[in-house]
Amino acid sequence: MLEVIVLFDGYSEELPNGRMDANCTCTLIKSTKLIIVDTMTAWDREKIIAALAKHDITPQNIDYVVCTHSHPDHIGNNNLFTNATHIVGLLVQQGTMFYEDPRIPREGYELCPGVNVIATPGHTAEDVSVVVNTMKNGKKTVIAITGDLFENMNDIFVPSIWKSLGTPELVKTQSLMRSRIITLADSIIPGHGPMFNVTSTMRELVTDQILK
Ligand SMILES: [Zn+2]
Repeated sequence: MLEVIVLFDGYSEELPNGRMDANCTCTLIKSTKLIIVDTMTAWDREKIIAALAKHDITPQNIDYVVCTHSHPDHIGNNNLFTNATHIVGLLVQQGTMFYEDPRIPREGYELCPGVNVIATPGHTAEDVSVVVNTMKNGKKTVIAITGDLFENMNDIFVPSIWKSLGTPELVKTQSLMRSRIITLADSIIPGHGPMFNVTSTMRELVTDQILK
């Protein structure tokens, strides 16, 4: 049994003074391994501990921490999970040992059956997504936990949202990665908004938005 549980929906709001008020989506994957994707800001420690406790999980039970990229609102509580292997972007770390895993930009790094980390650069050069193959009501379904590759569902209809937040030199790359992910996913858990189901209209829009 593989379960994907969004512990906290991310959000982001641009303030009139040009600053952002934002926190990331934090997701728990329960399977043969326990995986947490993105650990919010450093001020959210107690919230995360309490949310995991509702599922009878302590931070020490977590096997993998995946941070979709290393912005501070996505890595704030990594040090809660000292029994876990940490994957931050393309880097895999355990204690003081770390290395760049070549599988992530290629076929993907399998954390457990049905759960893969793949490179989806654009928002930053090192962004990764977690692609989960699971079952829903007896049917196969694919859930992509994308970090800020997708800011929220709205950025499909208003592409200036993701373009203004990403790395300017990688805007073409991001447009291509967005299309790649939305083509394979039935549902997307974006970096700063609630999970949404992908429609064929959304797929067509994102594919039309690929920059040449
Ligand atoms: Zn973010």
